[in-house]
Amino acid sequence: MSYFGSCYCGEIHIEINGNIDSIIHCHCSRCRKASGTAYATNGVVNIDDFKILSGVKFIGKYSKITGKYRHFCTQCASPIYSSRDDNPKSIRLRLGILDSDIAERPMSHNFVTSKANWEDFDTELPHFDTYEPGR
Ligand SMILES: [Zn+2]
Ligand SMILES: [Zn+2]
Repeated sequence: MSYFGSCYCGEIHIEINGNIDSIIHCHCSRCRKASGTAYATNGVVNIDDFKILSGVKFIGKYSKITGKYRHFCTQCASPIYSSRDDNPKSIRLRLGILDSDIAERPMSHNFVTSKANWEDFDTELPHFDTYEPGR
């Protein structure tokens, strides 16, 4: 598996050589605010499978919660991925930056009790009040 992605302005290009696991649509208020959308779609990528091909100097890092970081393009503000100190082996990729079609599919909607009241679900995926079971 080899997937490619880039930010809105095109300075940052990334490559994934592996699977994207545990893809979820997250409706929590933090993801809504960070993305500016109804929900963020994130997937887990092994850190060894993740490569920044260009634009490293444009990657900014924001931390509101100790040990958790949101990495974004400092030029165009695209969210790229998040990371956390207590799990340095993987990142959570923001799937909207992908330029490649992927084989994997989302498995659930999470934190649905925090969803925007103007959002209408139009999917058959399971809905969970917090994380999916098992995480
Ligand atoms: Zn950019
Ligand atoms: Zn979230």
